[in-house]
Amino acid sequence: MNYQVLLYYHYTTIEDPETFAAEHLKACKELNLKGRILVATEGINGTVSGVIEDTNAYMEMMRNHPLFEGIVFKIDEAEGHAFKKMHVRPRPELVNLSLPEDINPHEITGQYLSPEQFFEEMQKEDTVVLDVRNTYEYDVGHFRGAIRPEVETFRDTPQWVRDNKELFEGKRVLTYCTGGIRCEKFSGWLMREGIGEEVGQLHGGIATYGKDPVVKGQLWDGQMYVFDERLTVPINQVEHVVVGKDHFDGEPCERYINCANPDCNKQILASEENELKHLGGCTIECSKHERNRFIEKHNLSEEFVQQQLKWLEEKATV
Ligand SMILES: [Zn+2]
Repeated sequence: MNYQVLLYYHYTTIEDPETFAAEHLKACKELNLKGRILVATEGINGTVSGVIEDTNAYMEMMRNHPLFEGIVFKIDEAEGHAFKKMHVRPRPELVNLSLPEDINPHEITGQYLSPEQFFEEMQKEDTVVLDVRNTYEYDVGHFRGAIRPEVETFRDTPQWVRDNKELFEGKRVLTYCTGGIRCEKFSGWLMREGIGEEVGQLHGGIATYGKDPVVKGQLWDGQMYVFDERLTVPINQVEHVVVGKDHFDGEPCERYINCANPDCNKQILASEENELKHLGGCTIECSKHERNRFIEKHNLSEEFVQQQLKWLEEKATV
């Protein structure tokens, strides 16, 4: 393990995100880093990978930068890069909640809870735990008993919460997300809306919770979805409960694949066996796609492909 993956964010004011992004990209490339960083006037959010020496130099550079005083890095050991390229992109905002009036976490945000506090509080009677990530992230792993908003993307979560207000009435609401950045805004929004009695957020997110030497990731089921080539990482060091389900047969599964149709590219959970049976497609249309990458990659014979497509057609008409 001579690589590290750094996950971090910092709400601060970056006057000119465009210029900052261009200069930051240059600095990252000089340190041989790979990853994805977003820069907005409200701050910075990134995941980068590199050898230990380079990632340490990057953290040093950031900590010494006047704009990023107090920045916190979550560090994972790794065997290689977690990205193929290095991107630094200017964006209008770091976290898009599609609100007419955005939330500034420096002005309003939920009470910060350490992993130990979160672990204690989530087990209390009058508390509800709300997952503020996307459903595809929830489905491969989440806190036991956490609420899963039925939304396509995080942007739709505020409306879902408004429509399901009764779930939170008179409760202490605890929010969590991967590294904490989404909670900073979302918990602030909950407070502004007057949702729940009190609002708390998991400080440092699931990534920090999984490394805490006291709680050791307990009450987390499954894996944590991450936005890099690793796709998932373990959190609970005490027990491992599989919650992911195979897209095709619903069996316990934690293996992510991308749909073989390049125009679809949807991420689904599937066993190796089911992936082959379905020619890597998430639907029969995707299996049949003329540029099916799975057929090409595995050099499947025309005979096998036709046989599987016939089986899929028959299955679909049952
Ligand atoms: Zn598909």
